[in-house]
Order: sequence, then C-alpha cells, then structure tokens
Amino acid sequence: MPAHDFPPLVAGNWKMNGTLASLDEARALMKKLQGANPRCDVMLCPPFTLIHPMAGVLGDSTIALGGQDCHWERSGAHTGDIAAEMLADLGCTAVIVGHSERRTDHGETDEIVKRKAAAAHRAGLVSIVCIGETIDERKAGKTLDVLSRQIAGSLPEGANAANTVIAYEPVWAIGTGLTPTTDEVAEAHAHIRKELAARVGGEEEAARVRIQYGGSVKPNNAHELMSVPNVDGALVGGASLKAADFFGIIEAYL
Ligand code: PEP
Repeated sequence: MPAHDFPPLVAGNWKMNGTLASLDEARALMKKLQGANPRCDVMLCPPFTLIHPMAGVLGDSTIALGGQDCHWERSGAHTGDIAAEMLADLGCTAVIVGHSERRTDHGETDEIVKRKAAAAHRAGLVSIVCIGETIDERKAGKTLDVLSRQIAGSLPEGANAANTVIAYEPVWAIGTGLTPTTDEVAEAHAHIRKELAARVGGEEEAARVRIQYGGSVKPNNAHELMSVPNVDGALVGGASLKAADFFGIIEAYL
C-alpha cells in the first residue's frame, strides 16, 4: 500500500466547547473546503453532545467526524462513559485516546490508553493516540525516553497504519501559545517513527503511520510546522473552534 493511501490528517479537537449554535462553524468550514481539495484529510472532534447533530450537518461532506474519548468496554455499568461502538454508530470514524488532559484530569495511564485504543479498533475506528512530554521531562532531557515508554505502553496488539494515528503533543505546548523549535519537532517525530517499527510490525508499516504534531498550532505557524519531516498533519485545539482559523491551518496543505 503506497504512503499516499494515508494522507496527512488535520483534526480539530473542540474539547469541552460548543453548543448547537456552534454547528455554524462546521457549516462555515464545509463552505470554505468546497472546491479547495487540500492534500490532507480533515476531521472534527466535537464534544459527545454535538456528534449526532454534527453528523447531520456534515452529511456526505469530506470532513470526517471523531470522538474525543471512549471507554474500553462495549457496554455496561459505566455511568457517564461512551463506548467506541456508540461513536461508530453515530458516524464517527476515529477517536482521540490518551489526550494529556485525560491523562491528567482522569488519571489515565498508558495501560488504560492501550485498552481504549484496542476498543477503538474493535469498533472499526481509527485511534488517535496522544503522547508527549511535560516541561519538567523536557528540561530533564527525558523527552525521547518518555515517548518510547508511551508508545510501548499505549499501542495495542494489531496497531497498524490503517487503524492508528499518533499525535505528538508536548504537554507544555498545549493551549499555551508555546511551540517546540522545528528541530525539536523533527527529532521527536523521527524518534516516534523509529520506535513505531517494533509496535506495528516493521519499518515499512511504521513509515505509513501518520504522526500528527499538536500544541498551539495556528494559521501563522502551521506551514512551518507541517513542513517538518515526519509531520503528517496536526491535532488542533483552540484554533479549530473557528472555521476561519481552522481553515487557515488546513491551508498549509493547499
Ligand atoms: C490539543 O488539545 O490537542 C491541542 C493541541 O490544543 P491547542 O491547539 O489549543 O494547543
């Protein structure tokens, strides 16, 4: 399978933002994308409450729909949780797992992230597995070790380029306006690519896995960040909430 079967993925993570009125931003994004034909896949990951109505808005547009989290079980006594199968039922094709905010706010460990990614694959969803170092880990020179540990611990059996996307998100860059240098991004992504080989069945398969960069991606830095070797798209938080900003990032692929 040639690498272009998996084009870069620019995904917007709305986090705990948005009400029904926010669907206008999805409509505006659809309009901007009409005839634009970016060389990337585009995805929106709204909060659970907006997945169903957003699916109605997106219809058969080219914008894919993703969840922000899932439980590892198919069903059962897990109040407030959502199964990967439920996301698939609503038209999602992917789900973010292991976002640093879930690791911090909900104590999610690599083992839990692995179970969630396995659940995503069971349900036919792509797992967008988030990894990244804290500022203390970076300052201590442990960034690459942390990434190795998270890759080894968070990817389930059967992970491959078709069902797994890695989002490299330095925790200190998320929502702060700070970004690593392009050299730092290149070093991290090359390391992730190398480590993936052992997890996805070899270097050839690892070469096809999309590795997104995430952390304060904005229209004014997207082109530079997306041009770094081994960067295959972006996971975008704040700048995905407004169609104009999000499209400004997608423009890196026009
Ligand atoms: C994120 O939450 O995944 C993220 C990258 O956020 P932001 O773009 O706001 O830094």
